[in-house]
Amino acid sequence: MSNLSLAKDKIRILLLEGIHQNAVTLFKSHGYRNVELLPGALDGEELKAKIADAHMIGIRSRTKLTAEMLEAADKLMAIGCFCIGTNQVALEAARDKGVPVFNAPYSNTRSVAELVIAEIIMLARGIPHKDRLCHQGGWLKTADGSYEVRGKVLGIIGYGHIGSQVSVLAESMGMKVRYFDIIDKLPLGNAAPCDSMEELLEISDYVTLQVPATPQTKNMFRREQIRAMKPGSILLNLARGNVVDIDALTEALEDGHLRGAAIDVFPKEPASKDEEFISPLRGQPNVILTPHVGGSTQEAQANIGNEVADKLVRYSDNGSTLGAVNFVEVSLPVQEGVTRFLHIHRNVPGVLAHINEVFSSRGLNIAGQYLMTDGEVGYVVVDISGDIEAGMGVRKGLEAIEGTIRTRFLK
Ligand code: NAD
Repeated sequence: MSNLSLAKDKIRILLLEGIHQNAVTLFKSHGYRNVELLPGALDGEELKAKIADAHMIGIRSRTKLTAEMLEAADKLMAIGCFCIGTNQVALEAARDKGVPVFNAPYSNTRSVAELVIAEIIMLARGIPHKDRLCHQGGWLKTADGSYEVRGKVLGIIGYGHIGSQVSVLAESMGMKVRYFDIIDKLPLGNAAPCDSMEELLEISDYVTLQVPATPQTKNMFRREQIRAMKPGSILLNLARGNVVDIDALTEALEDGHLRGAAIDVFPKEPASKDEEFISPLRGQPNVILTPHVGGSTQEAQANIGNEVADKLVRYSDNGSTLGAVNFVEVSLPVQEGVTRFLHIHRNVPGVLAHINEVFSSRGLNIAGQYLMTDGEVGYVVVDISGDIEAGMGVRKGLEAIEGTIRTRFLK
């Protein structure tokens, strides 16, 4: 049967944009020797030529995998986005070609949480303003408007991966943590949930937003919510740029309703370091502005290298699609003593019956079967016990089924 599955050293992996070396190490440790790592992004004909030969490709945010580009990628079986976002990939076009796309949504959780904590302390002490003055030769030596964070209330909106990490770190500094989430979340330590966002805003000295981008969180922090915060409190947004109304925030800082803010994400961010960053928040005294670097650390890059390479290896080795962003997610056991057949097809009626027929008509025993479908694409995994002769025509039989997009065999 081994002549039906592609040997690992024949699987070509193309990694672009200087992806962390951890990824290469992980691929090699799993027997994938054919790994090419390029320092920059590719585009146009150069990318087309390279991708036509690749079985797996790893990119970050600068390589655009459009539908047209994917058309050239006939051998491609999986895409790894070694970053958080995946909108540089035509996800539906990839899915329609039977190509799952993986990313690393949580590798930088700790990095963001640490920056939130650092900024809370800096803002509590009015450091941004004092720092700027020192750089200009000033010396604002005063305890006025300078506070410890111990004993103060931190309100966390969105108690997910980052929110809960912030919760643990803040409690260890003696802060009282309250949080609001739209779903029930188990509190960590002595943190306690609030019944409503209004309740949280009313009691919090510091409010940090840790929500995802959804239709509900778009502009969720407008004038009304900012004014509902305690007078003299501080707002942090290291989540998404369109969650906070920046004009309403600027107004609240200027009239003193808020004592400070830390903003890492903006409604409009410069596309590169050559473009000017424009914001009414520029020049505000107790405001920390950072260029969307909440999750940008060496450790996060290393984690991303591991996480995405691991997802690609799992998919290549055993067919698991757990963590795919455009594909049905199937977590599969390691295949032992079986041959595994993967069948990706358009979600049309009758495919499963045809697949079973291919095996039963050849007297093959199905040891396990896994099936998941979404609206467009179905994914069936069949484990066959015993020996299978290459000449049995299983592959041909599966490929002949109407609606088949792609088949793979793992042994
Ligand atoms: P997560 O999915 O683990 O957690 C988000 C939480 O928010 C979930 O518990 C969810 O139930 C909750 N939530 C959703 N809608 C809500 C609402 N309307 N009100 C209250 N709670 C709501 O996500 P995460 O990994 O913790 O990331 C949080 C945010 O941080 C995301 O927007 C992510 O994009 C952003 N992020 C920013 C950076 C950066 O560089 N600044 C880095 C990583 C992540």
